Amino acid sequence: MLNYKLEKNRPFIISGPCSAESEKQVIRTANAIKPIVDVFRAGLWKPRTKPNNFEGVGEKGLNWLNKVQSKLGIKVCTEVATPKHVDICLKSNIDMLWIGARTTVNPFYVEEIAQALKGHDIPILIKNPTHPDINLWIGAFERLKKHGVNNLVAVHRGFYNDTSSTFRNEPRWEKIIKFRKANPEIPIICDPSHISGNSKYVKDISQIAMDLDLDGLMIESHYDPKTALSDRKQQISPKNLIDIVKGLTLRSPELNDDNISSQLQSFRLDIDNYDMKILELLMHREDIIKQIADLKHLNGITVFQLKRWFEILDTRKKKGETLDLDENFVYEIFEIIHKYSILKQTKILQNLDNN
Ligand code: PEP
Ligand code: MN
Repeated sequence: MLNYKLEKNRPFIISGPCSAESEKQVIRTANAIKPIVDVFRAGLWKPRTKPNNFEGVGEKGLNWLNKVQSKLGIKVCTEVATPKHVDICLKSNIDMLWIGARTTVNPFYVEEIAQALKGHDIPILIKNPTHPDINLWIGAFERLKKHGVNNLVAVHRGFYNDTSSTFRNEPRWEKIIKFRKANPEIPIICDPSHISGNSKYVKDISQIAMDLDLDGLMIESHYDPKTALSDRKQQISPKNLIDIVKGLTLRSPELNDDNISSQLQSFRLDIDNYDMKILELLMHREDIIKQIADLKHLNGITVFQLKRWFEILDTRKKKGETLDLDENFVYEIFEIIHKYSILKQTKILQNLDNN
């Protein structure tokens, strides 16, 4: 899969509905997306946040997936969350399985699934855990490998975020870059549907995934998204899927052109320069912090001053706006700067108290 994009000039595509709902829905969707997919997806057992929602059709959907294989000649995959799911999917000759985000979080579940897969070479997709713990994700790969399951693919579906955000799950692209650096041999598929939570962002997220040189996309599609029984807002129509995949711009990770290479080099030198300046400014800022700590110590004042914190946020936010900088970007930078300033002052005060 790692060279797939170069060979086919498009990413590896897994698509299909969030859930298999009926034989008609499965066959109609699979038939409509056939020209653009490598593997058809449909969840049979759905992990829902609350009970009494549609929890999937279960085992009977396997038969519909088998029809997609035999009548349409498309490979199929579904989610497994228990050893029993694994056993019946293996018996039904499902081509690929995925472990969902709510299962990857639990090493006991992953271990049980790994044991059930022992001795089989079916490809397994492992979605990132819901929270941004890359080691837990990597641990799931290690558990499967320990049981001889080596045909593994990572699926990036974003990370849970309890603050209001544009996306259902934060992409945290930096985590994915880290994952790739630590495991260059593992293909990574992006799931823009669960990241976006809304069909209108699927295209842009897919393009970012391509720009970061990820290997494929898992996109939820439904022949009639507005009637979907789960994840209705994020599913896209077959036509939309085909347009999105055909409209992707694939850029080369290699620089073959000397002219572009030297331009990029020059931009990178500018960036290096600015980064060094930022570090020097932070050093000067830290000098002042030391003097503030001394003053607070002499006068018995607390390190953390709520009023000052709000003032910092407010003035930096306003300045950021005039400079056309993203509001969250500015907020997060000053949150970190302020956090370390408080830590530094606390350390200095403790040292002064002890002397
Ligand atoms: C899904 O793919 O439909 C699904 C439930 O995904 P996740 O585990 O990423 O939430
Ligand atoms: Mn879904």
